[in-house]
Order: sequence, then structure tokens, then C-alpha cells
Amino acid sequence: MTDVSSQSEQATGKLANDGLPPLREVIAEHGLSAQKKFGQNFLFDLNLTGRIARTAAPLDTATVIEIGPGPGGLTRALLFNGAKNLTVIERDPRCQPVLTQISNHYPNCLHVIDGDALEVDVTTLGPAPRKIVANLPYNVGTLLLLGWLEKIDEFASLTLMFQKEVAERVVAKPKTKAYGRLSVLCQYLCDCDILFDVHRSAFTPPPKVTSAVVQLVPKVDRGENISLDSLAKVTQAAFGQRRKMLRASLKSLNIDVLALLEQAGIAETARAEELSVTDFVRLTRIYDSL
Ligand code: SAM
Repeated sequence: MTDVSSQSEQATGKLANDGLPPLREVIAEHGLSAQKKFGQNFLFDLNLTGRIARTAAPLDTATVIEIGPGPGGLTRALLFNGAKNLTVIERDPRCQPVLTQISNHYPNCLHVIDGDALEVDVTTLGPAPRKIVANLPYNVGTLLLLGWLEKIDEFASLTLMFQKEVAERVVAKPKTKAYGRLSVLCQYLCDCDILFDVHRSAFTPPPKVTSAVVQLVPKVDRGENISLDSLAKVTQAAFGQRRKMLRASLKSLNIDVLALLEQAGIAETARAEELSVTDFVRLTRIYDSL
């Protein structure tokens, strides 16, 4: 895995020569100082935004959805790299004039929604294949992902920038500290990969921690089809008290825990972090049958 830093900005700043003003000029002209309440850490590195856009290719045949375009760095990269049907959802009204300017530059390609992405059913924004590509606001990133997981088969891919700690939880393997509910839900539904890390200096202002771009591609074959709601309940109980043995932590499910564990062939003394995703899937199937 490589690490991308903002040093590449000057070297490659000409890459996305899209005819629009440089991002720093746009920010200054529209007074778009980053605001913490919106989780704003902007990307000006055209090499990096281009790289993120290209990892989601092909874009020209997809309904592309970007959450939180801000001043439009990634938006411009998506359009420059071929997106023809891109919808962006931005909660900060200060960004609307800039996004309108980009929309005018790419007629009929960019649709701007002024609103809260938590309240938008993004599956209604255009036909499949649908791809979400976003540098997510850190304060609602995980919540947004959990919502998309509920309708994951409506998407072709999710390409998302998170704080590295969240990205690591998505891809974590059993018996690691990062392994938890998010890992099981994501990995049951999707093939998940961290594509590359992004150094904090690539953002304005720089966040406290490193970020990473993670890609989730829904699995065509999940082996067993179980209820996501039930998997969420079982993993919530198991990891809610992750230091406890399963015979204790699963008590909150209000079922015969020992019978459940026995039928699933899992030791009652095991702890949540020792179970594979397949174990959780089996446990959930039996939980639903009890
Ligand atoms: N995409 C831009 C970039 O890469 O430079 C900005 C990314 S910044 C990390 C997150 C963006 O999400 C901000 O523009 C912020 O205003 C927006 N945002 C925060 N909460 C949001 C929400 N609930 N719905 C839509 N946009 C939101």
C-alpha cells in the first residue's frame, strides 16, 4: 500500500486541467473556510482526487453519487474522468454557487442536491450500475456506510475515504483489535479492500490522523443468505461486550444461548473476536431458526 501526500500537488497540479479555476482560488473567492461542524477537510491535490476517481472506473456508464462535494475537488475529478450522470449531495449551503459553476461547465452531467445525505435514499438517484465515491465527513461517515449496507445490492461499488482507523475496521480480520461489528457486516456483504493511505497533510485543514481509501464491492455469492437485521443484532450483542465469553455476551438476545452455541458448533467460552465472518453467519442462521 502506498502513501499519498500533498507534496504531489505542485508536481502534478496540471493533471486535471479542466478549464475551471484552481481550487484554492475557488475557496478564497467564495470564502469557503473549512468548518468543523460539517466535518470539512478539503482535498486540493489533483493527483489524489484523480486517483480516487480512477479507482471507481468506469464512470461514464454509471450513476455516480458523491456525498459532500464541498468546493468540488473530487467532483471535478469524477467529471474529468468521464462521469456523465453524477449527483452530489452537500449540506453546507455556502458550496452551492461553486457547485453550480461546475455544473454549468459540464452541462447535463452534474446534479446538485442541497441537503443532508443521511436523509436521501441514494438508490433513487438513477439507474444501476450505481457507484458511490466520496471523501466522507468524518462525523457521519460510519453512519452513512451502515445505511448503504442495508441496500448494498443496489450498488456496484462504494469507494470511500475514511479515517484510517475506520477503514481498518472495515477490512479487519478475526483476532485483531480492529475486528468488530463493522468488519463482519461489511465483509459478509462485500469484498473490501484498503486501496491506499492518504497522509493528513493532503487535506486542508489537516485532520489529526491518517486517512485511507477503502473500496467495497458487493459479493455476487454470499454462500448463505441471512437477514442483515439479525446479523446486526447478533454482532451487536457479541461485540457489545467483546471481552466476555459468548455464553455471557449473547444473553442480551433473550434466547437459549447454550443451545444456540452448541447447534452452531461454537465453544461457549469463545469470545466474539475469535469468530470468523462465516461463524457469525452460521450463528445468525441458527438464531433466526430458534
Ligand atoms: N469532497 C470534498 C473534498 O474532498 O475536498 C469535501 C470533503 S469533506 C471531508 C466532507 C464534506 O461533506 C463537506 O463538504 C461537508 O460540508 C459535507 N457534509 C457533511 N455532513 C454532510 C451530510 N450530512 N450530508 C451531505 N454533506 C455533508
